[in-house]
Amino acid sequence: MPRSTKIVATLGPSSSDPQVLRRMLAAGVDVVRFNFSHGKPEDHLARAKLVREAASACGREIAIMGDLQGPKIRIGRFEHGKVTLAAGARFVLDAGCQVGNGERVGLDYKDLTRDVKPGDVLLLADGLIVLDVERVTGAEIHTVVRLGGELSNNKGINKQGGGLSAPALTAKDVRDIETAMECGADFIAVSFVKNRTDVEMARRLAMIAGERHGIRPQIIAKIERAEAIPVLKDILDASDGIMVARGDLAVEVGNAAVPALQKRMIKMARAANKLAITATQMMESMIVNAVPTRAEVSDVANAVLDGTDAVMLSAETAAGRYPVEVVETMAAIVEEADRSESVVLDTQFLNQTFARIDQSIAYGALFTAYHLRCAAICALTESGSVTLWMSRHDIDVPIYALTQSMATQRRLALYRNVHPLHLPMSSRDATLDAAERKLLDGGYVKRGDLIVMTVGEPMGQPGGTNTLKIVRVGEHA
Ligand code: PGA
Ligand code: MN
Repeated sequence: MPRSTKIVATLGPSSSDPQVLRRMLAAGVDVVRFNFSHGKPEDHLARAKLVREAASACGREIAIMGDLQGPKIRIGRFEHGKVTLAAGARFVLDAGCQVGNGERVGLDYKDLTRDVKPGDVLLLADGLIVLDVERVTGAEIHTVVRLGGELSNNKGINKQGGGLSAPALTAKDVRDIETAMECGADFIAVSFVKNRTDVEMARRLAMIAGERHGIRPQIIAKIERAEAIPVLKDILDASDGIMVARGDLAVEVGNAAVPALQKRMIKMARAANKLAITATQMMESMIVNAVPTRAEVSDVANAVLDGTDAVMLSAETAAGRYPVEVVETMAAIVEEADRSESVVLDTQFLNQTFARIDQSIAYGALFTAYHLRCAAICALTESGSVTLWMSRHDIDVPIYALTQSMATQRRLALYRNVHPLHLPMSSRDATLDAAERKLLDGGYVKRGDLIVMTVGEPMGQPGGTNTLKIVRVGEHA
């Protein structure tokens, strides 16, 4: 069985060497993430070229996800790069301040004063520093330090409970969408989404920018604002998937609330036929250590059991010491977790209704493969949508998506339990034969195995799957 849960790896200085990148892909990276919080457009373009070269050297299609910075609110810079804040001391966030010191620091978002009132709690540097707001006057937010420590340049600010009103797409994000499309990105991740409008806006801009490059990017909404939780269903409807962005989310809703939210969010995404990525600090200690902690191993395995499509690496692969080893380690954990629970498919279909022909074939294929104990599901597909339905249910049968579309192949790299393969399409019968031969020659199935094939007639039309065929491999070959 191939590994079913996918791996997203963030690229950065640690993964810029072509050899390292190649080894990371060989170790199991399915999707690479470009973090637009760092780097210039030309850096991202050069990186995209590296990725395509490394992928072709490995003989695989790798998806690129462009992750927009969004309105991350940050403090300004300090005269000496950093200060130490003591508990009980006073500290001012001052939109007018140019160079900070131990008493005050500037703000990159000048309107923060409008969103903050006495009694609010501000968390800096991912919650390592906690400030109680005492009063707001003009451009100044006067606070008392509750939890002190070292505070350095440009650290992020969150408000406990949410309520920061900055729009989800900044002018920089709009430019970065252009760059991402120029990089050929398959996915755009939108940070700090508050509602469906934020997602719709990002999609509109990405579609316009993508058109010039022949790309229709998929939109991933990063769930990291408290406001997004009550409107999650809406956000799911507007997006192709979500990222459980546990870093900022934990700061806004509190650490303790995150594990249950992760489970709920993944469940809701799957029920809505959308994708889910679980992100942030999954293998954090491997930034500096060659092995993960027991807790990290459990965290990755539990995300797999929650049903996530992919687990994500951030600084581990972008800036860590062990960019290859962390991918190997994560892949091994995922493989073990993938196999650890027995599947009971039937109950998942109780009370399900479906009206579409391709959807009926997708579920029919799943049901058949499960009960006949098939070795594989083989979906001949143009858009891949049939495999999205199939992959929203756990089944211990791998789904091979055979497609002539490179864009589909890349997109499907993120889908749980879907393994995209390239296959040129000709007539229906010739293509079915070629598909069977491809699986056999690639070692994905063996002679005598039973497989379920799905196909659309006429061929090559997105969403056109209307046929299910059960085949004994090699019988007529
Ligand atoms: P970031 O998003 O790494 O871009 O901040 C993920 C998160 O907040 O968890
Ligand atoms: Mn974030």
